[in-house]
Order: sequence, then C-alpha cells, then structure tokens
Amino acid sequence: MTDWTPNSWRNKQATQQAVYPDPDELERVLAEIAQLPPLVTSWEVEALKSKLARAGRGEAFLLQGGDCAESFDDCRSDAITAKLKILLQMSLVLVHGARKPVIRVARMAGQYAKPRSRDSETRDGETLPAYRGDLVNRHGFTSDDRIPNPNLMLRGYERAAVTLNFIRALADGGFADLHHPENWDLDFAKQAARGEDYEQIVNSIRDAIDFLRVVAGGAMPSLQRVDFYTSHEALALNYEMAQTRKVPNRRGWYNLSTHLPWIGMRTAAADGAHVEYCRGIRNPIGVKVGPGMTAQWLTELLDLLCPDDEPGRIALIHRMGAENIAELLPPLIETVRKTGKTVTWVSDPMHGNTETTEDGIKTRHFDNILSELEQAFDIHAKMGSTLGGVHFELTGENVTECVGGARGLEPADLGRAYLSRVDPRLNYEQSLEMALLIARRAAR
Ligand code: PEP
Ligand code: MN
Repeated sequence: MTDWTPNSWRNKQATQQAVYPDPDELERVLAEIAQLPPLVTSWEVEALKSKLARAGRGEAFLLQGGDCAESFDDCRSDAITAKLKILLQMSLVLVHGARKPVIRVARMAGQYAKPRSRDSETRDGETLPAYRGDLVNRHGFTSDDRIPNPNLMLRGYERAAVTLNFIRALADGGFADLHHPENWDLDFAKQAARGEDYEQIVNSIRDAIDFLRVVAGGAMPSLQRVDFYTSHEALALNYEMAQTRKVPNRRGWYNLSTHLPWIGMRTAAADGAHVEYCRGIRNPIGVKVGPGMTAQWLTELLDLLCPDDEPGRIALIHRMGAENIAELLPPLIETVRKTGKTVTWVSDPMHGNTETTEDGIKTRHFDNILSELEQAFDIHAKMGSTLGGVHFELTGENVTECVGGARGLEPADLGRAYLSRVDPRLNYEQSLEMALLIARRAAR
C-alpha cells in the first residue's frame, strides 16, 4: 500500500468533520482510545469478508439494518434486544424464502455520527451549528450543546463496547427463545392483503425449527447461536483512525471498531479523505452509490479501494430512489462489468425515497421502499448480475416514522411516535412485512 498511514487522510480534503475548539484535548482523547482494546477482531472481519464474497456470488444474502443514527440514550437493553429480534426474525424469513444463508449485519455499536446536508440549523431566527450525531456534539438547541467535544468519542467507544458486549451475550444463547411463536407479533397480518400468506410462512418457519429440535433431541446448537456483525458509516475519521490497528501475524491494518465500515454518499470523493482512509484498511468496505455517481468516478473508486480485486472487499450499496433506479442502475452495472472487478451489490431502498410531508416531517413510503427493492431484484436479474443483499433503516419498536404498510400509517399518524432525530425508520411490523414480501425474490 503506497504512502498510506492511518492518518494520511489528514493530508486530503476531509468533508463533514467536526472542528474541535481544543486540538490538544482532541489528541489526548484519540491517544486514550488508541490504547483501549479493539471492539472486534481481525478474524471476525475476515470471516465477514468471505461471507460477503459469497453474497456477491448469490450463495448467501446480506441483511444490513438498524437506526439511521444510534443515540447514546438508546443504549438500553430493551431497545437493543428489540432491534436484534427484528433482524433475527427478518433473517429467518429470508432464509426460508431464499433458501440460502443470511448474513446479519447491524447498523449498531458505532453508528453515532451523521453527515449533514447543512452545516447549520435555524430555529425561530436563531442559527446554530448542525447536530452531527452523539459522537460529535449534542442534540439540544443551545450553542453549548453544539460545540464539538472530543470526549464524546470516548463515550461513543464505551457505548459501542457495552452494546457489543450485550449483542455477543444474546447471540450466544439468549436468542433461542425468539424462535417461539409468542415472539412473532403478527397482529398486523390481519389487516394485510396477503395476511394469510404471512401467517403461513411464519408457521412453516416454526414447524421447521420444531422439526429440527426434535431430530436433534433437544435444543439445536445451530439455532441457539447466531452471528451478528456490526457496521457504521466511517464518517468521523479521527474516531476510526484511533481504532485502526496493525494486527500481529496478519498483513496490514484493520479498523477494529466495526466489521463493516461504509463510505457515505456525501464523502465518497475519489480524492477525498474518506476514500484515502478506507483504501488502507483490510475490512470489507461499503460504498453508497447515489444518483450522482458517474462511470468514471465509480471506476476510480474501485481502482483505489479494490486494486487487488479481492472478492467480498467491496459492497456497492445503491440508493437511487424508486423513480430513478431503472434509469440509473443499469449503466453502473455495466461500468463495473467493464472494470472486470468483483463486487457485492446491495440495495438501500431508504435513502433515495425520503420525502417531506405537508407538515414538514421527513418520511418514507412503504410502497416506494418496496418498489425500489423489487426493481433492484429485476434489474440485476435482467442484467445477469446478482443482488447480494439489502440495507434498511429500521427499529424493533413501534414507532411511526415511515408511512404505509399493512396498518396503513398515514402522514397524520407520524406525530404519535416519531422518535428518530434523523431519518425515518421502518417499525417492527413494517420491517417484518418487508422481509415477507421480498423473501422469495432473494432466492434468485
Ligand atoms: C445513511 O446511511 O444514513 C446515509 C446518510 O446514507 P447516504 O450516505 O447513502 O445518504
Ligand atoms: Mn440515514
């Protein structure tokens, strides 16, 4: 790797970064984080990379999901359990429909920083710096709250560590119960046009699990233990850098704050700091691909990020919007084909479908999310490429942030339980329904 160091990004244009008032304090905090143990290990990272390579070939399917931004306040056992529960149930629905292994990757344990379209926010005539996520500053609307504080990175590392500790403990046994019928909340199916189909699918999953349990003469170890990987946007480069480690006995550097860091759409400039940082680490890298992506830009990104054409290294996460995907995705599939590189294609049907209601509330329509996904499956099938996974913003709780779904949430319902500080998430029912609707498509 030529001329790369964990801090070589500092010589490039770094957009979306906090400017800390006290640079010495920043360096002190970074040095402290750099001494703390890693959150994940290089062998887990390598295992995920091989699994993503399989997803790229259609032999497995990636389910990536979680909050747009985690908040420190939501580091609670009920919220974490609810998120894992919905991801697990969606994954079982997908395994059942697709007949292939599902790779579960949570947007958790580090998704604390947000890119912002505007650097400032104005309320009632007062303008303050934008909230950039709990890793950077605070959500309250006072000038003190909005000052970037490097100690929040330490708090973020600690929140990530306790979240991951709980995920690992649950994944190692406590989840067995989630296979039980009472843990599948299918009330919404009564109102769905295809409600009977949904119940049938879930019953058939329960039957399969019961059958395996009987055959095994008790609990099945493979049902009790589930793998969860973590991911977050590699946005706050100081935080990522402090957790970038050279691993003994392995070639190269790893970001050990998460298994799968991704580059957001706003920070994907080929000559920018985020691409510079990511090119030097050996993790699999997600790259968000939006409507502005060009053939030349994408080719440059693949050259920089994937010079050795390592399968599983790059997940291209397209987020075009239901109205644009038919026009914009095919040329990019063609571009990648011309480069001869191997990528894992993933559909993010959320970020191209954000709209604002008449009351000024950010929302997304269930039907547009589903439409982008269905088109993504069709386009890849038609072009002979493979859709290897899906990327959702979701929560296990009963929020009202996206409209539509079997309950028919309307814009007027959004006020009831709108908890996201940033993008609107699918709630438990909408998430499960989405998985039920796409599961068979993933079989291709
Ligand atoms: C996100 O995933 O929350 C996000 C900001 O996405 P994008 O970079 O695709 O807009
Ligand atoms: Mn988002």
